[in-house]
Amino acid sequence: MEKSRDRLVRATACDGMVRCVAAITTNLVDEASRRHRVSPTVSAALGRTLTAGVLLGSLLKDTEKVTILLQCTGPIGGITVEADAHGNVRGYARNPQVDLPLTERKKFDVRGIIGGGMLYVLREADYYRTGLFRDPYCGSVPIVSGEIAEDVAYYLTQSEQVPSAVSLGVFVLPDEERFFRVEAAGGFLIQTFPGVADDVLRNLEASVLAAPYITEMIRRGMGPREILQTALGDYAFEILEEKEVRFACTCSSERARRILAALDPEELRAMLREDGGAEMTCHFCNAMYRFDVTELRALLPEGEATH
Ligand code: ZN
Repeated sequence: MEKSRDRLVRATACDGMVRCVAAITTNLVDEASRRHRVSPTVSAALGRTLTAGVLLGSLLKDTEKVTILLQCTGPIGGITVEADAHGNVRGYARNPQVDLPLTERKKFDVRGIIGGGMLYVLREADYYRTGLFRDPYCGSVPIVSGEIAEDVAYYLTQSEQVPSAVSLGVFVLPDEERFFRVEAAGGFLIQTFPGVADDVLRNLEASVLAAPYITEMIRRGMGPREILQTALGDYAFEILEEKEVRFACTCSSERARRILAALDPEELRAMLREDGGAEMTCHFCNAMYRFDVTELRALLPEGEATH
């Protein structure tokens, strides 16, 4: 069966006092898990953070990007996720293979591999898209939960002063060929603005609490619209945007070549002598770029190319 594509819906409710986004990210979390060969628990942790990236990315201006950085005291070490306003997200975990047994409730011990630490969120102009450099906006909070959704909600509420509810989830199933595969992943974000009525707040809190697990809704076949409706309870919403989201990296062979070309020629000569070429791996997507002797020599100052 062909899986449907990952998608996101951004909407507004209660006369603009409520902003909400929901996304299905099953394929992109599966792709990230495959690319980085992560353990099931890291798949859950990285997948939740990628999904948070997609949700926050949808709130950006056209030319901005957002980076979510978890500096963790737990065995995963850290997670870095970068997303733009166009549904592109990429990310990695510092220690992709670490794992822990399931918790007593048969859930991934995400809190266990994250431990404590700090959560940073950076918003900046996308340099590659605009050629502009502006000082980034950076906020941070201590990691209070380790389950990621609560931490992102805490960050938005405390650091950005926008009361927020966040739900994130990844569900995996055993797979004969690949050990496991991501069966469902996604999340939603509900934010309220100053002046929202108390009864609206109370009703939203109740409907968010009463909503089934996000992965359960996705496995039942619900799309982002149905998920938003469940989270909002009886409130109607108006869709502002509906789009595809995907795992996408900005690395390329050409970019890797430019990094090599900027090295000291002596370093290039050492690579030629000792390694007979060069290999570069992209942290974000695990793509490897190989440069053979001829390609490497071509990067040396003129006159050496033929030696
Ligand atoms: Zn890459």
